[in-house]
Amino acid sequence: MEKSKICRRCVLVENGVDVRLNQEGVCNICLDYSEGGKTDNLQRNPLESGFIKILNKTKGKGEYDCLVMCSGGKDSTAALYFMKKRYKLNALAFTFDHSFESKEALENVKNAAEALKADFLYFKSEFMKEMFCDILKNNSKAVLCHVCSIWYMDIVLKTAARFKIPVIIGGWTKGQCSRKAESARERFDEKEKEFASMSKETKEFLNMYKKTNPKYRDFPLSMREAITRAGKKHKCVILSPHWFLPFESEEYVEIIKRELGWKYAALSYPAKSTNCELNFISVYNSIKYFGYTHYHVEMAKMVREGVLDREEALKNLEINFDKTLLNKIAAKLDYRFD
Ligand SMILES: [Zn+2]
Repeated sequence: MEKSKICRRCVLVENGVDVRLNQEGVCNICLDYSEGGKTDNLQRNPLESGFIKILNKTKGKGEYDCLVMCSGGKDSTAALYFMKKRYKLNALAFTFDHSFESKEALENVKNAAEALKADFLYFKSEFMKEMFCDILKNNSKAVLCHVCSIWYMDIVLKTAARFKIPVIIGGWTKGQCSRKAESARERFDEKEKEFASMSKETKEFLNMYKKTNPKYRDFPLSMREAITRAGKKHKCVILSPHWFLPFESEEYVEIIKRELGWKYAALSYPAKSTNCELNFISVYNSIKYFGYTHYHVEMAKMVREGVLDREEALKNLEINFDKTLLNKIAAKLDYRFD
């Protein structure tokens, strides 16, 4: 098989549809970028002042000042730490578990919430299992991480409404951080060319699936839809932790290791991340169907903006798991990869 071609400027992989390389081996996204496409992402300048302005307006308005979406990863754990220790806010730690969360991640959240004396809401549900299973069995190209993130956001918004919480700290990696405060960006933003096929496949699947499976009748088609729907009942803003965390993650990783006993997961994709078990399957399928994953898109963006070294990104994106692991996880969904 021909080796996949990687853009020589960023880390995106040519897939012939959304990402195409020119004669020099540079992708269309990088070319658009160098022509002055995007400007306002990923600035090194701290956005903390904007963040404090929002907090000052909303503090004390709800049963909690903020809800922190805690995955057990370094960013969300540090976010909880900052909310409690630096900003002295009444923060609710919220973790959802679709029954594929790793023990290590859950351990991290529990330790952090206990050490920080934060109220902690752990939501475990098998609601998504049937959908995950059908995506695999029908060889659908819908992205597992995409449907999962929509569901996660929907639950978070409902929880924020329940406790009248004005601020949600969540969102994704630094590569997804936006300066816009109005709300989180869709992790798989269909307006971004890199995500065009992934978003289309996911949306088409959901559209069809909702109609045939009454259990998922009310499932939002996109994160945008979940946010719009929730906004009619309760107003809140969703802010990325990268508005206030130190730019270099080593800085806050040190703090949470020391003060909260936080640990890196032994194995997670990409390297040095903390993701759920299902993520391995989602990554495998994304590469199979689209040539790359949303992590490639996020890191490519950081490489382009000069805040991540290309070699380091490529190293972190190397596949670090095999079919044995995939099948161990897939067994929970009664599925097998050949
Ligand atoms: Zn590129």
